Amino acid sequence: MGDAPAGVEGSGFFATTLDQVIGLARSHSLWPLPFATSCCGIEFMATMGAHYDFSRFGSERPSFSPRQADLLMVMGTIAKKMAPVLKQVYTQMAEPRWVIAVGACASSGGIFDTYSVLQGIDEIIPVDVYVPGCPPRPEGIIDGFNKIQELVKNESSRRRNSPEYKQLLESYGIQ
Ligand code: SF4
Repeated sequence: MGDAPAGVEGSGFFATTLDQVIGLARSHSLWPLPFATSCCGIEFMATMGAHYDFSRFGSERPSFSPRQADLLMVMGTIAKKMAPVLKQVYTQMAEPRWVIAVGACASSGGIFDTYSVLQGIDEIIPVDVYVPGCPPRPEGIIDGFNKIQELVKNESSRRRNSPEYKQLLESYGIQ
């Protein structure tokens, strides 16, 4: 359960901004799309299990359809051959959408500094939060997720229509 947004409180009433209400609702109902290609995905499985209980953040529904997901979690090594597929999944997600690079491979290519491995998914799509580790423990994944929640909670509803955001997408060749 999230804290109530800042606002004006009185006997029998509470007033706040629409942006804050939308941010609160979105941040506690993120639907992740786990794009797991290797070992970091196993840590995500542990994060979803009963002990770490990802459900308590309102994210118990992993989506394997990009059209019903708003948080792309990339976990594992992304080969250059896989890069167009990842980009297509990202572009199929509706706005607003967020991205976490989980682990060293997704963030920077990790130990695989080779001709065939993408040296970080931010070469092809924008990333909001990077989670360090090889692999990160479930606590690290949860910490990264909490940071995404903060971003979501505080994002202006106008950001996605702003020229800066359009420019960001254009820099990745995304319309
Ligand atoms: S960061 Fe480490 S654990 Fe994660 S996919 Fe790469 S090699 Fe595997």
